[in-house]
Amino acid sequence: MKKEFAVIGLGRFGGSICRELSREGMQVIALDIDEQKVSEYRDIAAHTVMADSTDENVLRELGLRNIDHVIVAIGDNIQASMLTTLILKELGIKTVTVKAQNDYHEKILNRIGADHVIHPERDMGKRIAHHIISNNILDY
Ligand code: ATP
Repeated sequence: MKKEFAVIGLGRFGGSICRELSREGMQVIALDIDEQKVSEYRDIAAHTVMADSTDENVLRELGLRNIDHVIVAIGDNIQASMLTTLILKELGIKTVTVKAQNDYHEKILNRIGADHVIHPERDMGKRIAHHIISNNILDY
């Protein structure tokens, strides 16, 4: 059976996750508050939804209960990211991965119950630095 994912926030990071999961044949629900972003993913994701993820009723009505993993990729609006994460965990989503903007954001996300917190720019910077040190720059 195909795994089901939801990606909330279709910026560069969330968009890239959505594309890659879909390319790998996964069922992806792509959600963004911005209509233009949503239309970009209409032919890529299995389902697209234009909605505000901080609206509990929206997330409830999406029936995310069967989703294996939700990725919250809202960047600048830290409050929206935290509230979305809180609602998802309250709805019983098993695995929620969230992109954090800073250490303070990460700390709160961990308290709220986020299962994985990632800092894409920081983590990629670290990886590249290590590759540079090992002269293996072609392999990142
Ligand atoms: P990236 O670096 O991945 O491009 P970013 O960290 O700059 O993104 P933003 O552009 O602020 O992050 O947000 C990512 C996406 O999340 C945007 O497409 C934005 O429309 C969407 N978004 C922001 N708030 C909400 C919300 N409440 N509900 C749904 N989507 C939202």
